[in-house]
Amino acid sequence: TFDVLVIGGGPAGAAAAIYAARKGIRTGVVAERFGGQVLDTMAIENFVSVSYTEGPKLAAALEQHVREYEVDVMNLQRASRLVPATQPGGVITVELENGASLNSKSVILSTGARWRQMGVPGEEQYRNKGVAYCPHCDGPLYKGKRVAVIGGGNSGVEAAIDLAGIVARVTLIEFDTKLRADEVLQRKLRSLPNVEIVLNGQSTEVLGDGSKVTGLVLKDRASGVARTVELEGIFVQIGLLPNTEWLKGCVALSPRGEIVIDDRGATDVPGVFAAGDATTVPYKQIVIAMGAGSTAALSAFDHLIRTSAP
Ligand code: FAD
Repeated sequence: TFDVLVIGGGPAGAAAAIYAARKGIRTGVVAERFGGQVLDTMAIENFVSVSYTEGPKLAAALEQHVREYEVDVMNLQRASRLVPATQPGGVITVELENGASLNSKSVILSTGARWRQMGVPGEEQYRNKGVAYCPHCDGPLYKGKRVAVIGGGNSGVEAAIDLAGIVARVTLIEFDTKLRADEVLQRKLRSLPNVEIVLNGQSTEVLGDGSKVTGLVLKDRASGVARTVELEGIFVQIGLLPNTEWLKGCVALSPRGEIVIDDRGATDVPGVFAAGDATTVPYKQIVIAMGAGSTAALSAFDHLIRTSAP
């Protein structure tokens, strides 16, 4: 039986494992892919105190730091079910897709999230080469350039307002005939001189020169007419999907599927904590996920000293 079992090996899970292991308690990590979204990232320039690093390098450093402690790392394993304790302070079970069951006195859920993709030709090829998902991360790379933002919900409109202050021109593309963002955001967006809003528009292809994005094919859904928008960057803002499908009905989730946590990272299930992009934490970033992972581990430790027999 583990004292702390961490599900997920991204920045949140790695931080949780390190903080737990440093308390000298039995710690395990189950990760489908150790490193998480960081593995899919290239340049990282906002990891505070490190002015530049790259995703694969940071992911390797996360794993190395975790392995410096006596942590049982179970990589390439997917959790499929959580069974809460039957009595206060009891054992929580996590079932894996491979059929194994793991028992622990506390669990930290840090399964992260994934960006919904457009699913058009060129998107995958030019990911990190013009196709971006995070304006806070990659906005400054497009200073003075032309970009499109895909999606007219709150995140798309917020991204367009944010980017308009950095880049030369923003084309905001909404599939529907109207924007879905809050009125106050729409008003702000419309007041900006370097933003073009395209409604009823469908992006059908990302164009590039083999090494970077050069344009986007945009179809007017009413007329069916397609045109090419020349640009250097495309920010896809059509939803961040938390990896929490397996927790439905067991842990309280928000309407967006995020694990609901309090200030201490506690979920509504005793002994189960959560951290990072999978949760209701505002803003999904590496430093934020690491801070949340540390919080969850300290809260799990606090839970253990209050519930475990001496
Ligand atoms: P994740 O990194 O998503 O990790 C989740 C972990 O859980 C993974 O190990 C995954 O395999 C595992 N997992 C999922 N489901 C299961 C399951 N059922 N069982 C077991 N394991 C499971 N942030 C920045 O701060 N700066 C940047 O420059 C930056 N650039 C980015 C660029 C890209 C292209 C992307 C996609 C994201 C970027 N981000 C950036 C965001 C940042 O990567 C995330 O905020 C951060 O990784 C979240 O950490 P996390 O640990 O919560 O989740």
